Amino acid sequence: MNRVRVVVVGAGVIGFSTAVCITEALPFCSVTLLAEKFSPDTTSDVAAGILFPPKFPDIPLQRQRGWFKDSFDHLLAIACSPHSPEAGVMLSSGCQIFKEPPVDKKPFWSESVIGFRLMTDHELKRFPDHKFGQAFTTIKCECSTYLPWLEQRFRKAGGQVEQRKVSSLEELSNSYNIIVNCSGLGSKVLVGDTQIYPVRGQVLKMEAPWLHHFIREEEGKTYIYPGIYSVTVGGTKQEGDWRLQVDEGDTKSILERCCRLEPSLSKAKVLSKWVGLRPSRRNPRVERELVHMQGRRVPVVHNYGHGSGGVTLAWGTALDAVGLVKQCIQEMQLQAKL
Ligand SMILES: Cc1cc2nc3c(=O)[nH]c(=O)nc-3n(C[C@H](O)[C@H](O)[C@H](O)COP(=O)(O)OP(=O)(O)OC[C@H]3O[C@@H](n4cnc5c(N)ncnc54)[C@H](O)[C@@H]3O)c2cc1C
Repeated sequence: MNRVRVVVVGAGVIGFSTAVCITEALPFCSVTLLAEKFSPDTTSDVAAGILFPPKFPDIPLQRQRGWFKDSFDHLLAIACSPHSPEAGVMLSSGCQIFKEPPVDKKPFWSESVIGFRLMTDHELKRFPDHKFGQAFTTIKCECSTYLPWLEQRFRKAGGQVEQRKVSSLEELSNSYNIIVNCSGLGSKVLVGDTQIYPVRGQVLKMEAPWLHHFIREEEGKTYIYPGIYSVTVGGTKQEGDWRLQVDEGDTKSILERCCRLEPSLSKAKVLSKWVGLRPSRRNPRVERELVHMQGRRVPVVHNYGHGSGGVTLAWGTALDAVGLVKQCIQEMQLQAKL
C-alpha cells in the first residue's frame, strides 16, 4: 500500500498533540496539519494550562481516568527532563479550597496527581472563608511555549504544516485518505455540530515572582497559578458568550477575588490580559465516522470539544485518536483486498 495521507485540521493543543502522536506512532503515514490560526492566536494559548480534569457525564470514568493519566505521565516526563523550560512544562504544587466540603472529597483523578492529601485545619487558617481543602502537585503546561515546541517535534518527525482556513471537509477529500478533525469551536461550522458552544474565559498575567504555589477555589472560577514567566490569575466562565475582547468589569472582579485569596497580589503589576472561548460540549467527541463525500465514504476521526480541560486531556485523547486512525487504515486495507 502507498503511504497513507492523513490531514489534521487544527493547530491548538489538541491538533498538534494528535498530529505528533500519529506521525510518531504510524511512520507509514504522511501527515499534514492545516489550520487557520497558529500559536500565539489559538484558544490553547490563553489557557492557564494547569492539569486539572473536568468530569464529563456520559463517558465511562475509566476512559476519563486513562485520558488524564496518559496526559499527566507524558507531561511529567517532560517536566522532569532538561526539555522542561523550552517546552514550557513544569511541576506545580498548591491547593484547591472549598467553602463547604464537596460530595467528592477524593476525586477520580486524585491517584494520578502527585501527593494528593486533604489539608489540615492549621493550613486552612490562611483561608478563613474556606472549610475544606485538597493539596497536591500537578503540572502547568504553558501553550505559548509548548505549541511551538510540539510543532518543531512534528516537523522533525516528517510532518508538514500549512496555514489555511478549511470551509468544508469535502475540499480535503481528494487529497487525503483520512481526515482528523481537531478544530475545537470551529466544528460548529466545519461539521455542523450543534452541541458545541463557547464558554468565555478571561485571565490576567501578573508579575509576582514571590508566589510559587497555586490556589484554586472550588469549580475553578477563581485561581492563581504561578508559571515560568508570570502568574496567571482568573477567571470567568461565561456560557454562550462569544466576546473576544477584554471586559474591564471582569478584570476588576478577577483582581478583587484573587486578592482576597492572596492579599500580596495587590502589590503585583498586571502584565497582560487575555480572553479565550473554551470549545465546550456535554462530552468531548473522540470517535470516527465515515462521511459521504464526492461519491465515496471518507474516514473522519473527530477529536474536539474538550471545554475547560483541553490541555489536561490532550495527549490522552490524541492517543485514542491514533487508535481510531489505525482502525480506519485496517478497514481501508480490507476493502482494497475485496
Ligand atoms: C481562560 C481559559 C483558561 C483555561 N485554562 C485551562 C487550564 O488551566 N487547563 C486546561 O486543561 N484547559 C484550560 N482551558 C481550556 C483549553 O484552552 C481548551 O480546552 C483547549 O485550548 C482546546 O484546544 P483545541 O486545540 O481544541 O482548540 P483551539 O486551541 O481553539 O484550536 C482550534 C484550532 O482549529 C483551527 N480551526 C478551527 N476551525 C478551522 C477551519 N475551519 N479551518 C482551519 N482551521 C480551523 C483554529 O484555527 C485552531 O488552530 C482554558 C481556556 C480558557 C479560555
